Amino acid sequence: MTKGNINVSVENIFPLIKKFLYSDHEIFLRELISNATDATLKLKHLTNIGESKVEYGHPQVEVKIDKDNKKLHIIDQGLGMTAEEVEKYINQVAFSGAEEFLDKYKDSAKDSGIIGHFGLGFYSAFMVADKVEIITKSHTDAPAAHWTCDGSPQYTLEEADKTDRGTEIILHIAEDSTEFLEENRISALLSKYNKFMPVPIKFGTKTETLPKPEDAKEDDPAPTKEVDNIINNPNPAWTKQPADLEAEDYKNFYRELYPMQFEEPLFNIHLNVDYPFNLTGILYFPKLAADMQVQKDKIQLYQNQVFVTDNVEGIVPDFLTMLRGVIDSPDIPLNVSRSYLQADGAVKKISSYITRKVADKMKSLFNNNREEFEVKWNDIKIVIEYGMLSEEKFFEKADAFALYPTVDGKFYTFEELTNAIKAKQTDKDDKMVILYASNKDEQHAYIEAAKAKDYEVLLLDSPIISHLMQKLETSKENISFARVDADHIDNLIKKDDTTISKLSEDEQKSLDELLKEVVPSEKFSVQLEAMDSSATPFMITQPEFMRRMKEMQQTGGGGMNMFGNMPEM
Ligand code: ADP
Ligand code: MG
Repeated sequence: MTKGNINVSVENIFPLIKKFLYSDHEIFLRELISNATDATLKLKHLTNIGESKVEYGHPQVEVKIDKDNKKLHIIDQGLGMTAEEVEKYINQVAFSGAEEFLDKYKDSAKDSGIIGHFGLGFYSAFMVADKVEIITKSHTDAPAAHWTCDGSPQYTLEEADKTDRGTEIILHIAEDSTEFLEENRISALLSKYNKFMPVPIKFGTKTETLPKPEDAKEDDPAPTKEVDNIINNPNPAWTKQPADLEAEDYKNFYRELYPMQFEEPLFNIHLNVDYPFNLTGILYFPKLAADMQVQKDKIQLYQNQVFVTDNVEGIVPDFLTMLRGVIDSPDIPLNVSRSYLQADGAVKKISSYITRKVADKMKSLFNNNREEFEVKWNDIKIVIEYGMLSEEKFFEKADAFALYPTVDGKFYTFEELTNAIKAKQTDKDDKMVILYASNKDEQHAYIEAAKAKDYEVLLLDSPIISHLMQKLETSKENISFARVDADHIDNLIKKDDTTISKLSEDEQKSLDELLKEVVPSEKFSVQLEAMDSSATPFMITQPEFMRRMKEMQQTGGGGMNMFGNMPEM
């Protein structure tokens, strides 16, 4: 037996680790399963390239609770460690064996999916355990080793009699962490962090019902069998090639991700890039009902199939946090704080890549199946419009597919719209006036009046539409928006208005005065119009700028924050 001191520069690093390394104690399990998975993938790699002679077989990782003895076991059939390797990889805190392995096998192991790279993960075990044992047998001929440490810098290392290859980590769960001896708690953790890890993870067994044998009698019970309870899907859809997946596979994966979500997604976007960074994933446009509170934190972030977080704020642009799905990148650091993540260069690149990718996908959906795109527009417009407002790059791209529906259910792109109205809706200052209604019922009379004049009326009713209109007015030349009940519709036509009022001048004057008494003059301007085509004798209008200013104040003019200041959607 050897005795020695764990090689750390700080006198006693464990209290530090316990308190500060991770804010969340529960991630110890993710770390240990990641190591077990790494050990398995390393062995796979070594057998592949002929450096290990053992039979790779069908290794799994097992998690076992021993409640009576207050122990938690994590057992793998990976490459194991010799005593020397334990000295090197475990006793030197912050010496990452994963990184060393990747360095050594640089080219061949690049895509091996190995997770670790900080060399601190293992010690997170001491957040929940006051004693940790490692019993490990290397895939080489070296004898097995048994390491024990009680959370002080002293450890013991001796030979063990384990004969099957792989590593067993035994946590002696501390008094304040006994929750991690509960089956439910561990089961929930496994499904949160490990649901899509690449090596099968066993947690207990389950009863499987077998088909009845042919000669079984009617009320014979169906035979059952105890099988391993594998908690993960090692080959989730996002790790596959888009060409190998059908529409149905994407829908099934959505259900796998959100078992409680019954509504089908509208679109999916398969992300797949390996340069200048590695990223895979599938994003979904959910149906965002107008009366539903926007739910953020639905995109899950993974690193090599290990769950990192579902709080992607600062990692994907704000407007995309309304989407759902998975992003997986080995370039996203696993173990670090949010502020670090947000400042990380790779993360920033990822964010702009995703924005571009979403825009490109929308564009191709629009080009390939405009009809379907139009049908779904109402459900996706809030994301697109918010994206146009908040990301300049997205605005430029979305200009080609953002739709402007009319009150009659037609859909224009911006370019189509201006072509359609150029001739009729250009005002005396040569500005094109885009008319819109925000509520078909309330503004019915105005809509009818505008249509009678052969004007095109859009139906724009998103909660952020006034911001978008302003954005369009400043980035496009010579256009302005006016709601159908705005006061300057009459100025649209360059040539003299030929409509003739049916009222005499005297009648007009007295009606005008009467109305001014009734209508609060500071909010509305009163105009008598020739309403020859409808039953409405006159209209009360409100200046566009006044109404819009009020609206923008309500939805938070400057520094708009979708989720903070917006009215509930
Ligand atoms: P990292 O995973 O970032 O390298 P860890 O602290 O999690 O750092 O683990 C340190 C090292 O200990 C690993 O790189 C690996 O060499 C070794 N190790 C940990 N767990 C196992 C295991 N189950 N099987 C084999 N080696 C392991
Ligand atoms: Mg690790």
